[in-house]
Amino acid sequence: MYADRIKNLPPYLFAAIDKAKQEARSRGVDVIDLSVGDPDLPTPQHIVKALNQAASDPSNHQYPSYEGKLAFRKAVADWYQRTFGVQLDPQKEVLTLIGSKEGIAHAPLAFINPGDAALVPDPAYPVYRTATVFAGGEPVIMPLLRENRFLPDLDAIAPADARRAKIMFLNYPNNPIGASADGKFFKKLIDFAHDNDIIIMHDNPYSETYYDEKRSLSLLEMEGAKEVAVEFHSLSKTYNMTGWRIGSVVGNADVVAGIGKIKSNIDSGTFGAVQDAGIVALGSPKSVVDEIRQVYRHRIEILYKALKDLGLELEKPRATLYLWAWAGGSSIEYAGRLLEKTGIVATPGVGFGKYGEGYIRFSITQPTARIEEAAARLEKMGN
Ligand SMILES: *Cc1c(COP(=O)(O)O)cnc(C)c1O
Repeated sequence: MYADRIKNLPPYLFAAIDKAKQEARSRGVDVIDLSVGDPDLPTPQHIVKALNQAASDPSNHQYPSYEGKLAFRKAVADWYQRTFGVQLDPQKEVLTLIGSKEGIAHAPLAFINPGDAALVPDPAYPVYRTATVFAGGEPVIMPLLRENRFLPDLDAIAPADARRAKIMFLNYPNNPIGASADGKFFKKLIDFAHDNDIIIMHDNPYSETYYDEKRSLSLLEMEGAKEVAVEFHSLSKTYNMTGWRIGSVVGNADVVAGIGKIKSNIDSGTFGAVQDAGIVALGSPKSVVDEIRQVYRHRIEILYKALKDLGLELEKPRATLYLWAWAGGSSIEYAGRLLEKTGIVATPGVGFGKYGEGYIRFSITQPTARIEEAAARLEKMGN
């Protein structure tokens, strides 16, 4: 019945985790679910209020525009200017998305012909790979290894692969690893893209979810970036808005237009009221994101210490919602033992690709009291 593109999908690990979770719950286990990155904190009230108001506006009840309201795209451009000092033309260099996942999943359809390659990191957010395959392309894996600070080794990409590749996906600060990229790497990346005529698709939903003094970078801050790159951004993680489905892709005008062409044949845009509320979100005072960061920073400290004390190897992430711990051996078996002994659900690293094997990802998107409870159980497990 099903097409090959469905039949050939790798087994969906998260379905197996869900099953194990259900089973544990039915046995009466008080499960602490640290397997998904979905903020537990509510969307800030001023944004919810803006939605309530905008929902009553009849102009929002008709089809939205394909490319998104100009006012929202302006708000994105202003936000990029304020946050990164990057200038964007809201008319040509910004496109509204129904969450960044939607844009990422559709983007390869605009650039990949059958047989073309896409450079895809491993471990990674699974959508880069499946979206490439759905478009008839071939994912070429770039391993993210600890000895390279979890950055792809661009010099290790075979020249033939670089020639065949039309696009490259990347994501820093990174899910699932929690690693960040520096300006030096980004510069080299832009040179690589120029030399090999490759479009860089940088997925950047965690740019504001950082915990040290220095902010995270946008790839578009690099000289020449706009000639070869676009960046996906999302309100999901920054403002606790995963359920709202709104994001954007910005940067190279031709790439943005290509994604727009695909989208205009598939969806009919983002609900106008959600865009109106998105404008309010992007204009939030700094204190809004600062408060969210405070909460996450505290949770990371608690869980980092507990995992260290347990004897796992990991670095404290300077950004993102994830701790990426080396357990060694089979990550699926380790996650199973962890659930058995502690009631904690974490994600086996192999679910993000073969180079994730041996690692376990812990998310911090549960209430702080539950993170503390998880830490207490980990301590008990270690004793
Ligand atoms: C959460 C996440 C997204 C998806 O964000 P949405 O805007 O909610 O679709 C994209 N990429 C990565 C790496 C993520 O972790």
